[in-house]
Amino acid sequence: MELQSDMARNNSPTEDLPKAPVTLASLAKATHLFQFIGAQKWMFALGLVFLALTGGTALAFPWLMGKLIQAGSISMDQINRMGLILLALFAAQAVFSYFRVVLFVTVTENMLANIRQKIYAHLITLPMIFFAQRRVGDINSRVASDLTQIQDTFTTNIAEFLRQLIIITGGIIALFLVSMQMALMMLAIIPVVAVLAVFFGRYIRKLSRQVQDKVAVSNTILEETLQGIANVKAFANEIFEITRYTRSTESIRNQAIVAGKARGAFFSFIIFGLFGAIILLVWYAVRLENAGELDNGQMIQFILYTVFVGASIGGIAEQYAQIQKAIGATDRVFELLDEHPEDIDITSSIESNKLPLEGIVEFDKVAFSYPSRAEVPVLHEVSFSASRGKRVAIVGPSGAGKSTVISLLLRFYDVVSGKITIDGKEISTYPLTWLRGHMAVVPQDVMLFGGTIRENIEYGKPGATDEEIKQAAAQANALEFIDSFPEGMHTIVGERGVKLSGGQRQRIAIARAVLKNPVILLLDEATSSLDSESEKLVQEALDKLMVGRTSFIIAHRLSTIRNADTILVLDKGRIAEQGTHQELMKLEHGVYKNLSELQFTHTV
Ligand code: ATP
Repeated sequence: MELQSDMARNNSPTEDLPKAPVTLASLAKATHLFQFIGAQKWMFALGLVFLALTGGTALAFPWLMGKLIQAGSISMDQINRMGLILLALFAAQAVFSYFRVVLFVTVTENMLANIRQKIYAHLITLPMIFFAQRRVGDINSRVASDLTQIQDTFTTNIAEFLRQLIIITGGIIALFLVSMQMALMMLAIIPVVAVLAVFFGRYIRKLSRQVQDKVAVSNTILEETLQGIANVKAFANEIFEITRYTRSTESIRNQAIVAGKARGAFFSFIIFGLFGAIILLVWYAVRLENAGELDNGQMIQFILYTVFVGASIGGIAEQYAQIQKAIGATDRVFELLDEHPEDIDITSSIESNKLPLEGIVEFDKVAFSYPSRAEVPVLHEVSFSASRGKRVAIVGPSGAGKSTVISLLLRFYDVVSGKITIDGKEISTYPLTWLRGHMAVVPQDVMLFGGTIRENIEYGKPGATDEEIKQAAAQANALEFIDSFPEGMHTIVGERGVKLSGGQRQRIAIARAVLKNPVILLLDEATSSLDSESEKLVQEALDKLMVGRTSFIIAHRLSTIRNADTILVLDKGRIAEQGTHQELMKLEHGVYKNLSELQFTHTV
């Protein structure tokens, strides 16, 4: 039973969380959590009062039971009165427990909602470098399991820990009040057995975790080899893999048998140790009773207090471990909140389009390397300029640095040397939200949210009217296909809705950009080619979109950028050539000419 629940706990997301040592500093940090409780601190305090009351009523129970037994030898009235008092005690305990749980849950849920909102608002304003260095899934699951741990601890573990502490101290005092001799006897036995049981239990848990780890290793072998079965066969390595798997399963078997033996010993220990201790106590109590030093009522009181104290000593270790984990979880949550956000001004984004910007972009000897790999230069001395109404195409082989140029314009990262200016001012001097408010990106891989088409277009300008959205869709050549759906704009897209084709997604992204009405437009041409009809519609929509803006186009197919005003040819982070299509085609052995010819022969 014990082990089964252990196994179940092993599978919970919080099981693997490390425990933090409880030091003054870590406790002080954990108390920062209280700042998220806000105005409801009194609820927490009141919850603590109810907790103390439930502890008190729990302690009163053995006492009153003993009195009831003693009353049995007195009168009927006494018996009735004691019975009623006991009933009242449980009624009181029921009420106290209810309020304790409700108060703690209310406080915790409010606190969690505050933490969640704060973490999200913080995460979403962190700079790209933060996300570049971590896997999003990891952040996600870490935050989720840390918050679950904090939630469990605040709703249950702290309360249980304190309640058990009250029962242990109160119970031991009561034991001494009932019978000094018995209390000393008990203190000599029960804590020893309880502590041994806790350590033994932990040892068994460690053993079963080792078994699980070994099972995981063997599952990996199974999975990898079946997934890569072609490799196994091509190398004729079947025998090798069979041996590897056999060895792994044998190791599971051996470890599981060791764990099984330990479990058997644990049960024997529990039976012998615990029941032995109880027999010893009862034996001693009966002797005292015979000698007239203990009556029946005291005996009952004693046994019940012993059971209470024993159970609490056994349980408090687990609660303490959970609190330690929660302290660790809190630490990590605060670590995340300590990360420096970008200079995002949430209030100005909507107003941004009203402020004038001409859109003259200039790169002046820009050099850059990603912070995560500072020793690898990605751009060297990149210089070019573009003004409003002009189309700048960026071409070059894969890894040349095309997307990096766009990332720098968006100020996802800051340049290492040189400068990027817009309208003659360095981009780092503009407020970030305002700057990005003037730009729109039509990415290669369009991200659509699970929602309606309307909501997806509205993303370009939250709060846009139906009319504006319709016009944007029309300008993006998207209205026709949207209207072909029975629910039109209200068609659900994404995982649970209609799956849109590549060209349709692109046009939704274009409609978003139309709505945003940016001064600077950043286009990342889709690599996977669309069918010619779709491509024509997308190209047409883009051509309309680019009018009157400064546009940058990362082009994968050179045919689409023949009439760009400038073509930048990037090669290994440097601008190898720069000019119009005609100019670049004149360069003998030029990179562009070469690329162009390659693509031509490829597509023919
Ligand atoms: P493609 O056409 O394949 O998209 P690209 O020309 O857009 O390539 P970039 O994505 O700008 O090339 O990448 C330029 C170089 O920078 C590559 O060597 C790439 O490995 C590296 N790079 C890109 N992003 C990061 C990052 N976040 N951290 C570290 N290095 C990166």
